[in-house]
Amino acid sequence: MQLTDLNYEGGIGANSIYCRLGDFCFVIDSGLHPKRVGQLAAPNFRPLEGVKLDLVIITHCHLDHIGSLPLLLRAQPGVPVVMTQPSRMLIERMLHNSVNVMQRERKDKGIPDYPLYTHREVDRCVPQLQDQALSQPKKLTSVRDEVELILHPAGHIPGAAGVEIKHQDRRIFFTGDVLFENQRILDQARFPVGPFDTLIMENTHGASPKITDRSRSQEMIRLVETINATIRRGGSVLIPVFALGRMQEVLTILHDAKKLNRLVDAPVFASGLGIDICDYFDNIARKTGLVNFARTILKDLKVCKPPRELLANKEPSKKGIYVVSSGMVVENTASYFLSASLAGNTKNSLCFVGYCDPDTPGGMVLAAQHNKELFFAAAHFKTNLRAQVERFEFSGHADRDTLLDYAVAAQPRSIVLTHGEPPARAWFAAQFAEKLPHAKVLDPVPLQSYEV
Ligand SMILES: [Zn+2]
Ligand SMILES: [Zn+2]
Repeated sequence: MQLTDLNYEGGIGANSIYCRLGDFCFVIDSGLHPKRVGQLAAPNFRPLEGVKLDLVIITHCHLDHIGSLPLLLRAQPGVPVVMTQPSRMLIERMLHNSVNVMQRERKDKGIPDYPLYTHREVDRCVPQLQDQALSQPKKLTSVRDEVELILHPAGHIPGAAGVEIKHQDRRIFFTGDVLFENQRILDQARFPVGPFDTLIMENTHGASPKITDRSRSQEMIRLVETINATIRRGGSVLIPVFALGRMQEVLTILHDAKKLNRLVDAPVFASGLGIDICDYFDNIARKTGLVNFARTILKDLKVCKPPRELLANKEPSKKGIYVVSSGMVVENTASYFLSASLAGNTKNSLCFVGYCDPDTPGGMVLAAQHNKELFFAAAHFKTNLRAQVERFEFSGHADRDTLLDYAVAAQPRSIVLTHGEPPARAWFAAQFAEKLPHAKVLDPVPLQSYEV
């Protein structure tokens, strides 16, 4: 197989890999870099010039995996795009949201390239989008060649899949983003066992050991206890969440606690894309059974919208539990203004339930010392950190040891490192050198082609 990483900066960014296998050319994922702006956020599709793709495979609907799909399809009209059924149900909503975000950024930040594509272009992609049942092989044939494609549940978010490709006597497996642990609303990955010829694996947590040995259910209890203590002392709780997956998990945890009479009585506020995604998850649950979520919990919890105007320098008029985006507290989002306004008061709590890049405002809050100054630059607001800041382990990605165990057990002849910053890749490379000394480990230089 010939493989080219189109994510031209490396790291975790605009995830996209081009593969040639026998007669077939395909691309796995077509993301947008979350920290770059304009055209620089897209993968570099130059190696695809003059190539007619047979297939695009989407592992899941996070924007770092789908955000540039309309750009790829602009140059590849008619190519089928396959994904799981839940992803098929989510992808249009997520791409339209991406257009909305880009339009807003064009206005707020004056980025002339935005939007990179329009709502109409997203609509034009729709006839090419296809779903494929989990664990069912799909054959792709040419006059003299054949490949088989199987999607396996990856646990990471609803719809996420690992991709198994069989060609002649070769077996290739691409993990995509994976979690080998049950979430409250989603079952863990069920991946095939090796041996594989080639394993292409994500490296997200390679540089970070687990922050705790506590189980996810212990973390759920600790989250509820932190909320209860905060409300009882007269404070408010902010839980910054990703709209796709984490918001619905947190709301379900609150609902469980309420049913068991373990949650204090307090208003629950939630807003934005995540509330819409609740409807989608409800639909996916009923149609596929592949997520454990019901939108009735919003009613049971009496979830309401946060006050319309959130200000950095003034706590919101209503105290309560705020479950809002963005998960990394990106500038000018509800979680950004709430972080700023709640951080200075010892009664409040800021509860982080997902990964925060160190360069984001969420990362800044997590790294800050108590009583030291925090500067929310986009809001021109300074405050001293006095609120309780807690981090909970609800990651959507496998911890590095579990992932390493999976890879070692799969006995691949070659391993391709992907979806990880350089220190994370270095950790995995060193581990493989020791534990799989005969395997070839490839940390691909973007835009270079490799035979694997
Ligand atoms: Zn993801
Ligand atoms: Zn990802």
